[in-house]
Amino acid sequence: MRKMNRRTFMQKGGIAALAGGSVMAAACSKEKKDAGPAVHSQKKYSWRMVTTWSPHFPVLGEGVDEFAKWVKQMSQGRLSIQVYGANELVPAFESFEAVRQGTAQMSHGAAYYWAGKVPAGQFFSTVPFGMNTQQMNAWLTAGGGMKLWEALYAPFNLIPFAAGNTGMQMGGWFNKMINSVSDIQGLKMRIPGLGSKVINKCGGSGLATPGAEIYTNLERGVIDATEWIGPYHDFLKGFHKIAKYYYYPGWHEPGTVLELAVNKSAFEELPTDLQEIIRAGAARLNGRILYEFDAKNGEYLSKLINEHNINLQKFPDDVLATFKKYADEAIEELVSSNADAAKIYASYASFRNQISAWEEITTHTYDAALRL
Ligand code: CA
Repeated sequence: MRKMNRRTFMQKGGIAALAGGSVMAAACSKEKKDAGPAVHSQKKYSWRMVTTWSPHFPVLGEGVDEFAKWVKQMSQGRLSIQVYGANELVPAFESFEAVRQGTAQMSHGAAYYWAGKVPAGQFFSTVPFGMNTQQMNAWLTAGGGMKLWEALYAPFNLIPFAAGNTGMQMGGWFNKMINSVSDIQGLKMRIPGLGSKVINKCGGSGLATPGAEIYTNLERGVIDATEWIGPYHDFLKGFHKIAKYYYYPGWHEPGTVLELAVNKSAFEELPTDLQEIIRAGAARLNGRILYEFDAKNGEYLSKLINEHNINLQKFPDDVLATFKKYADEAIEELVSSNADAAKIYASYASFRNQISAWEEITTHTYDAALRL
């Protein structure tokens, strides 16, 4: 058969028209196939997000407000999310259940808040003397952690996303010096998660006081000590006005991951582009919250020291060593009593060993060199 050049091809008018027609048809059919969910592109979704934070709470509440704005913009208004602060739709610690049951489609909080329902989830927020922020992000994103987290939440009809991190926290505010572990005896301290078990093992009482009640309880002596987050939020709470000593480091929360939990059925109903928009928004929020905490904490630590003359103290080494011994015990108790926790901790511990060896010869050596 003679090879047709463009001219001879064009001269065969009818064939050209037919060919053109089939090219067009093929193009249309390809477009439809590629676009897939675009068939539903005009459908609008209105979601509710419940949170464990006060409405528009700095960094955290503001962060989720921004997330809702990004999602609306990226989806050109096809997915709008109404954000509710704690107690506006449901109480703070009931947001897990609200999303599970579909009262809201998503929540923002931290996995250790639901430790009563999902004890193993604590490894996806933070554990005392556990992985730091950078290690947690590496484990979740590229070390298999996220898959374990998804598997843990699947029976609850939830999909988790890492969506923020507080960075390293502070040890807390005390009304007396902590010179030895015996100073913890009889001490009533507000502290969440496994950290509270450590305080109990030291002879004190670890209490889960809700954020809104901490200041009053500390002022009235209902509690003797409290941790909260870091210099910025601690300053906003005004703890420096009523407690004498500000201790570091935050051994109990070395890099708390904040979570977005999404109702799995609602997520699966979304077209794939809107699902990807949620993924992209969560990843952006994960960075935004951490960077804002880091930037503000540096600024407010300096403010507390220079303008408010706080008494900054480091926990003595032997106190930290005892905290660590009891934290190991608390983790062992959790792992030995819960099969999910055992499986997750195996991955957590093995990843941590590997990344710690790398950090030892890099960041730790570098930090030490800065002090030479
Ligand atoms: Ca805290």
